[in-house]
Amino acid sequence: MKYALITGGSRGIGRSICVKLAEMGFSVLVNYQSNKAAAEETKSLIEQRGGIAELLPFDVADGAAVEKNLSEWQMAHADDYIAVLVNNAGIRRDNYMFWMSDEEWKTVLDTSLNGVFYVSRILVKYMMNKKFGRIINIVSISGVNGMAGQTNYSAAKAGIIGMTKALALETAKKGVTVNAIAPGFIETSMTKDLPQDELKKLVPMQRFGQPEEVADLVAFLASEKSSYITGQIISISGGL
Ligand code: NDP
Repeated sequence: MKYALITGGSRGIGRSICVKLAEMGFSVLVNYQSNKAAAEETKSLIEQRGGIAELLPFDVADGAAVEKNLSEWQMAHADDYIAVLVNNAGIRRDNYMFWMSDEEWKTVLDTSLNGVFYVSRILVKYMMNKKFGRIINIVSISGVNGMAGQTNYSAAKAGIIGMTKALALETAKKGVTVNAIAPGFIETSMTKDLPQDELKKLVPMQRFGQPEEVADLVAFLASEKSSYITGQIISISGGL
């Protein structure tokens, strides 16, 4: 059985990634924080297509919870390992820096950056032992270019970009690739409060992307076909 873990798989981009990887034949572990109903919906979308899914709820920002859940999963699946990890869980709490609270700064860094460290640190060991693995980090154009009102989010995503490049160097000899995908504006609940009509004008393609378009790129990076690509940050942004 080939296992793939997608953090934040209950909704949005994560849900599309779960469905896509299940279609590729992966047994999908759907992580989420609290929205069980949405996670169940992801699971049933996978099962309707003949795929296999298991729910694995935990808060990626809580290092102890990550450790507990992933070691319990590993103990229950002694002969298997998670070959593909998609670090997708992320949140935004926008504010200009001069108004930004400690809480807004800390929550975004804890979930969007520290969460990637906690989950990857555990799974990368198994991938290196088995001499095959794929780590795919969902970052953002905000982390590449910076975005006003998002110093916390841009810092978190830029941090993951640095982590991606450094970890790729640590794992390259062991058959484990580490890459990041930087989406522009994608239509999900994360962007539903944004002024879409105004923002679309900034995008050369004049539209927001769809979660499925991101999932297709993840699918390529998760496949054997991407075996010579590591340490890269690939944008998917309609030319933004
Ligand atoms: P959504 O807000 O639609 O979904 C967020 C997902 O992350 C949910 O599944 C949520 O779980 C999960 N999540 C949030 N916090 C935690 C946590 N602490 N532990 C575990 N899971 C958590 O987001 P998107 O699909 O839009 O975004 C997915 C990723 O893509 C994020 O990393 C985001 O930064 C990035 N991105 C998105 C863009 C966009 O335009 N939408 C653009 C660029 C990057 P639950 O349902 O339980 O709350």
